[in-house]
Amino acid sequence: MNRRALLKGLAVSPFIAYNETGSTKSPFGSMHVAVIGSGAFGCWTALNLVEQGVQVTLIDPWGPGNSRSSSGGESRLIRSVYGANPIYTQWVQRSFELWLKLQKQAGQRIYFPTGLLWMFSGDDELMQESLPVVEKAGYRIDTLPMNHAEKQFPHINFSDVKSVYYEHSAGYLLSRVACQIIEDRVCKLGGRVIREAALPIHQLSGGLDKITLADGASLYADHFVFACGPWLGQLLPDLLQPIIIPTRQDVLFFGLPEHSEYTQSMPSWVNIGDRIFYGMANPENRGFKVADHSAGDVINPTTVDRTVDIASLKRASEFLSHRFPDLDGAPLVESRVCQYENSPDTHLVIDQYPDADNAWVVGGGSGQGFKISPAVGEYVCSRILERVDHEPLFGISRFL
Ligand SMILES: Cc1cc2nc3c(=O)[nH]c(=O)nc-3n(C[C@H](O)[C@H](O)[C@H](O)COP(=O)(O)OP(=O)(O)OC[C@H]3O[C@@H](n4cnc5c(N)ncnc54)[C@H](O)[C@@H]3O)c2cc1C
Repeated sequence: MNRRALLKGLAVSPFIAYNETGSTKSPFGSMHVAVIGSGAFGCWTALNLVEQGVQVTLIDPWGPGNSRSSSGGESRLIRSVYGANPIYTQWVQRSFELWLKLQKQAGQRIYFPTGLLWMFSGDDELMQESLPVVEKAGYRIDTLPMNHAEKQFPHINFSDVKSVYYEHSAGYLLSRVACQIIEDRVCKLGGRVIREAALPIHQLSGGLDKITLADGASLYADHFVFACGPWLGQLLPDLLQPIIIPTRQDVLFFGLPEHSEYTQSMPSWVNIGDRIFYGMANPENRGFKVADHSAGDVINPTTVDRTVDIASLKRASEFLSHRFPDLDGAPLVESRVCQYENSPDTHLVIDQYPDADNAWVVGGGSGQGFKISPAVGEYVCSRILERVDHEPLFGISRFL
C-alpha cells in the first residue's frame, strides 16, 4: 500500500489501540484525531488522546523540539506564580504531577528543582496578587529580607532590588528533550508520526474531513487539532493571523566560572524591573542562561535569520555584569533566537474553530506555555471527548 492510500485508509479502517501489555483498551478506539504540530502542546495533546485509546496521527515537518519551534532549546522555567486568577496555578499543579510521571516512565531526568529567586526592582504587584493563590495551592514562597537574601545568595548584587522572594517548588524542565520523549511515547502507545507540513486552510465552515499535506497527500480524521504554535496564523490565516503574533526572543548563554560552587549555589531566577530578565545557571551544560522576556520584533518563524541581535547581547551583558558581578566580562558561549507565540491578552487560545466543531485551535502560550503543556493536553483531550466544559478565559470568541 502506498503512503497516500495508507493515509486515506486511516479514516475508514477500524482502529484497535493496544496498551503496552498488548490488550485492547478503549471505547474511543474508532476515533481518529490528527494533531498538527509536535511542540509541547501538540505532543501532550497526542499523548493524552493515545492514552485514552484514541487513534492519533502527529504531523510535523521538522520534529518535536526542533530549532525553529517555540519548544526548542534546552530549558523552560516551571513556577506557580501567575497572578490572581487561580486557573494557571492549578494547571501548574496538575502539570507538575504529569511531568514527574513522565520523568518516571522515561527513566530520564526532565525536571531540575533548583528553586526560583524572584527579584523586583519596582513594584511587586504580581507577587502580592499571586501569594494567596499560591499558598492556597500548597506551595511555599518565602519573603526574603534584604540582609537574608545577600547572605543566602552572595553571588548576586541586590543593590537596586526592592523585594526578594524565594519559591521553593520551582525549577526548570528540559524542553526539547521532553518533546522528543513524549513523541516517542505516543508512538510506543500506537500513535503514528508523519514528518510533513500541513498546508494552510481557508475554508473550515461546517467542519473538516481532511487536511492536505505538503507532498499532496490527504489526511482524513474525525478531529483536527491545530497545535502549530507560532505558525497558527499561517496555517489558519483567516482567523488566527491577527490573534497569534510570533515575536523574536534572543536567548544567551555566558561562560560560567571554573569553580562548581557558583553553579551549585545558584537558583533559577527572574528579575522584574524596566525589563524582565530570567535564567538559570547551567541547563544541559550550556552556560549561564540570560533571556529577556520583552517581546521583540514580529517575525516569520520559518524564514527568520536566527543570528542573535547585537543590541540584545549588549543589554543582557550589561544586566549580567550588574546583577551577577562574578560574571562581568564572561564570554558568550552559545546563543539562540526563539519566538513567543503571543495572543493579544497573553492568555492561552484553546477552543473549537468557530463553525467547525471538529477543528481545534491550541496555542497562544505567550512565553509561558511550556510548563503547563501537560494540563493543556489533558484539557484538549477532555474537550474532544466531551468530558469537560469550555473555559471562557481561553475561548476564541473573546477576540471576535
Ligand atoms: C525563549 C523562550 C523562553 C520561554 N520560556 C518559557 C518558560 O520559562 N516557561 C514556560 O512555561 N514557557 C516558556 N516559553 C513558552 C513556551 O516554550 C511555549 O509557549 C511553548 O513551547 C509553545 O509550544 P507549542 O506547542 O504551542 O509551539 P511549538 O513548540 O512551536 O510547536 C509547534 C510545532 O508546529 C510545527 N509546525 C509548523 N508548521 C507546521 C505545519 N504546517 N504543519 C505541521 N506542523 C507544523 C513546528 O515544527 C513545531 O514543532 C518560552 C518560549 C521561548 C521562545
